[in-house]
Amino acid sequence: MLPEAVARRIAAGEVIDRPNAVVRELLDNSLDAGAREIDLRITGGGNERIEVTDDGHGMSRADIERCYLSHATSKIQTDSDLDHVRTLGFRGEALSSIAAVSRLEVRSRSDEEEGTRLVVDAGKLKALEPIGAKPGTTVTVDDLFYDLPARRRFLKRPQSESAAIRTVFLEKALPFPDVHFRLSTGTDLKINLPPSDLLQRIALAYPAYVNPARMRSLDVSGEGFSAQIYAADPQQARGDRRGLQVYVNRRRVWEYALVQAIEYAFDSYARGGLHPVVYLFLQIDPELVDFNIHPAKREVRIRILSQIHRAIVRGLADFLRAFDLHRPINPRLGREFARDDVVRHGEPQFEPPRGLSRYARQQPSYDLARRFSPPGATDDRRQEAEEQPLDAASHEGMRLIGQLFDLFLAVEADDRLYLVDQHAAHERLIFDRLRAGSPRQTLLLPIAIELDEEQAERAGELLEALRTAGFDLVRVNAQLWELRAVPATISLTEERLHELLLDALSVPENVERELYATIACRAAVKDGDRLDPQTALSIASDALALQNARCPHGRPLWVEISREHLLEMVQRSPTHPGA
Ligand code: ADP
Ligand code: MG
Repeated sequence: MLPEAVARRIAAGEVIDRPNAVVRELLDNSLDAGAREIDLRITGGGNERIEVTDDGHGMSRADIERCYLSHATSKIQTDSDLDHVRTLGFRGEALSSIAAVSRLEVRSRSDEEEGTRLVVDAGKLKALEPIGAKPGTTVTVDDLFYDLPARRRFLKRPQSESAAIRTVFLEKALPFPDVHFRLSTGTDLKINLPPSDLLQRIALAYPAYVNPARMRSLDVSGEGFSAQIYAADPQQARGDRRGLQVYVNRRRVWEYALVQAIEYAFDSYARGGLHPVVYLFLQIDPELVDFNIHPAKREVRIRILSQIHRAIVRGLADFLRAFDLHRPINPRLGREFARDDVVRHGEPQFEPPRGLSRYARQQPSYDLARRFSPPGATDDRRQEAEEQPLDAASHEGMRLIGQLFDLFLAVEADDRLYLVDQHAAHERLIFDRLRAGSPRQTLLLPIAIELDEEQAERAGELLEALRTAGFDLVRVNAQLWELRAVPATISLTEERLHELLLDALSVPENVERELYATIACRAAVKDGDRLDPQTALSIASDALALQNARCPHGRPLWVEISREHLLEMVQRSPTHPGA
């Protein structure tokens, strides 16, 4: 058995590893005490001194006597209280951990007349005495790890520790905009955040990232949660993720699924590789979250994660529609695709892609061969085509004129000429379907694929993502794998399927998005491919119906030229074209 004091100091290392951890815990305590004003002062990057003064409800003498002992918390009493925690702290481990590894002084006064001063050195009580004090609390932490040389050596230069403290300070201040926060180093006031509304707080805290004029706030909610989202328009996207923050019940968290929801929604809006500037503040019923899984409460378990994920993606998709490149020319189709866009990949239940079922529904009413006049068709047929009354499908008002330069699909609709990049359009459509989860088509004969060690490892990592997309890849032995099913949306020769898979397994990162983009690119029709009219028209009309018609790399899928513009170009007047 370890002596109690040693055990205490080992445990302390889990909670308190660096000065910024002390800051995090002290600020939490001040906020839990209902402070309206919090002053943080540090010297030597916090390695020498960290001091927090608040005007919160303070501690009684009895509270102070206990506060540096393990499991001393006034915030919960019973096991079931753990399910309803509304405070930032609840374990009663922070002050005791700090006390074990520093010189700690606490001066505090509650509504009693007198204040109390407590001094603890490396866990040993040095002083406990009455003092005169203002209501509220000041906690001073000197010489962190002073008697733990091994740990003290791990402290970084003051500048680095200061930077880390500043990060924590801002993350604490952000979700409490009505509390006045100040950060001073030595005697210099470095950051002053007076009470304000949330947007102003964000802008003051992160001036390099946030231009409040480019931010919108949106609220989404559902059963057991509500969220306030401050999102910048997609042009503000950044090369790093520092402008993307998620808070759950006023704690910053690093929950990948929530970050991913935001990036997913912005995906085709922000230029490739950039990250949106979004601050998400979630309030979740305490019974539905568990923060008690990480020493610093950075991780959280959320029981209704998928509902929240969906609500965020939907809310952002609505917001982002304002930044669509083009208005989709057929709003009905546009809506359907919009719904496709927000389906989260990786969720267990999949609907078949709407694009496909729509073909199936509408194909019987298309009579494209007749409406399309391929070059070289007889005049008879052309005439027949022109005389054909518009059939049921043509209320969409789209007519395929042909293929231009073996690359653009030319379509007439609504008094406009659309030129659709066939490769980019097809690529995006396949990409969407892969992400939404494709139905599979089983291959009659599996395709044997030999993988080298690296590819095999990647295959293992990407197996789920491939399955979502509709690929069934099965390992026969270390090098030999079998492709047994492919997404129904893809029709390729065995040779090209083989190539596609090898390419997909060579994507540099284990990122589903890259995987799907690679597959979509390889599976899409290429520049120069001659398309049959039916395929051409379905690619063009689907691409024209997309919200935000960009390819996975962010390029536009099509351009348009209006009738008026053409008339202008030949200097005709639009009202009297024959004049
Ligand atoms: P926890 O926050 O998990 O309860 P801590 O070790 O952080 O545990 O603090 C122990 C106790 O000390 C708290 O429960 C609270 O009663 C008291 N306390 C600490 N800091 C303050 C403060 N700034 N104002 C009022 N009470 C405080
Ligand atoms: Mg605490």
